[in-house]
Amino acid sequence: MTRCLFCRIVAKELSSNVAYEDDQVLAFHDIHPQAPVHFLLIPKKHFDSMLAIGDSDLPLLTHLMELIPKLAKEHGLTETGFRIVINTGPQGGQTVDHLHLHLLGGRQMTWPPG
Ligand code: AMP
Ligand code: ZN
Repeated sequence: MTRCLFCRIVAKELSSNVAYEDDQVLAFHDIHPQAPVHFLLIPKKHFDSMLAIGDSDLPLLTHLMELIPKLAKEHGLTETGFRIVINTGPQGGQTVDHLHLHLLGGRQMTWPPG
């Protein structure tokens, strides 16, 4: 049975280094960190990407967003700053088709992104 990688992490079929969890969302450290702090914040419910979000999902999206300052504070990023990334689709660089926000911090970011 093939299941989405992140749905398997939500179901604890695959292990992850959890940074935060509640009944709606999970945050876990990225397996290939691109910064000293790099974790992924995901809804437990499967959405292929931002393109699958509808009006009725906005409370969930709000919940994800309100966790950003909380997690940034817990990881000591409020003074130095951080970056949130939502890669979407092939040209957006999305490699896992389960909506996820990257939270990256602990080093100077550059712009434009690669
Ligand atoms: P994206 O390229 O935006 O779709 O991001 C997918 C991210 O998931 C990448 O940064 C990967 O390093 C990360 N990733 C893939 N598999 C795992 C895993 N099993 N546990 C944690 N992070 C993962
Ligand atoms: Zn999924």
